[in-house]
Amino acid sequence: MDTHSVDVVVIGAGQAGLSAAYHLHRTGFAPGTGFVVLDADDGPGGAWRHRWPTLTVDRVHGFHDLPAMPFPDAAPDRSAAEVVTGYFAAYEHEFALPVRRPVRVEAVHSLPDGRLEVRTDGGIWVARALINATGTWSRPFWPHYPGRSEFRGRQLHTADYRGPDEFAGRRVVVVGAGTSAVQLLGEISAVAAGTTWVSRRPPDFREIEFTSEHGRAAVALVEARVREGRPPSSVVGVTGLPVTAEVRRLREQGVLDRLPMFDRITPDGVAWDDGRFVPADTILWCTGFRAALDHLAPLKLRGPGGGIVMDGTRVVADDRIHLIGYGPSASTIGANRAGRAAVREIRALRARDTVLHR
Ligand code: FAD
Repeated sequence: MDTHSVDVVVIGAGQAGLSAAYHLHRTGFAPGTGFVVLDADDGPGGAWRHRWPTLTVDRVHGFHDLPAMPFPDAAPDRSAAEVVTGYFAAYEHEFALPVRRPVRVEAVHSLPDGRLEVRTDGGIWVARALINATGTWSRPFWPHYPGRSEFRGRQLHTADYRGPDEFAGRRVVVVGAGTSAVQLLGEISAVAAGTTWVSRRPPDFREIEFTSEHGRAAVALVEARVREGRPPSSVVGVTGLPVTAEVRRLREQGVLDRLPMFDRITPDGVAWDDGRFVPADTILWCTGFRAALDHLAPLKLRGPGGGIVMDGTRVVADDRIHLIGYGPSASTIGANRAGRAAVREIRALRARDTVLHR
């Protein structure tokens, strides 16, 4: 297998990875020899590439520009996946970013000489520093409930959702209290024979106008969690669910009459210990995602709290490693800033003649 040597490997070419790549290039790291971006996907777009086609531009929380190239004007009814994929492709081209794909990173090990060995399905890269920007999309979270394997109908996760058509005439149970659950209930309830909404915690609807202050407060909360080494919660999870015109309409239609989480799954539906039963053909798990960090397991970065102790984007236990798009930076604006911050720290490391010159 080929082995390549670089200063910095960036893993992932989503918003976070591209932002980091831009700042590496701008501050003098040479594309290809100074840094490389390894991405597992077949084409540009990061996770947006995989989002369902009915997620249109007007239904996302908002995009933030990548550095030095404004997000294009796009008609509100265009698919976000299509628009973002086009934007990222143009961005990679404009700044000649060295993105290698499809290249899946399988494991990262520490070498005795202080460098990091990045093993992939397309060769080995040896680097002095690592910026990990692998997002969460490839790690959908499926909670365990008794009877899950006995269910005769179909079970799928938000990550598998391709639009409402395949739910026509079905009895669908939607699990989860986040934005995706509400949005998908809105789409599916228009065509399904019936929908039932269940969640472990009651949904946190908020009748307030969201301001950047709310956003900042939410980011600060998630930041505090990862500084203590606890697993991050999503920023969107902390901000709550805005009560939009669509939410009001769905409430009036009874679509958002949520039930507490069921206790078990039966072959034909879901059941509660108090005797309630809801028949179902489909269970849609809108139960979120976890950080895709399995390839970092050999580095043993996780602490007893289950999370990785962080200072900004830097892993406290290993200053060669930055996690971006992780925890407080898991949004397009956060990912953008984290890319810049990680590169600033890696340059400072280099200037201090430590890791990058070991
Ligand atoms: P991603 O976009 O997930 O990119 C990660 C990249 O890493 C992918 O290209 C993947 O192929 C690659 N990768 C993963 N593992 C490996 C590996 N082992 N080897 C090589 N490559 C790998 N944020 C907003 O700001 N506004 C919104 O409206 C919004 N809506 C959202 C809707 C949903 C349903 C979800 C799940 C999230 C949403 N977010 C939103 C969050 C936002 O999409 C991300 O936090 C943000 O885009 C940052 O992405 P990223 O670069 O960290 O990761």
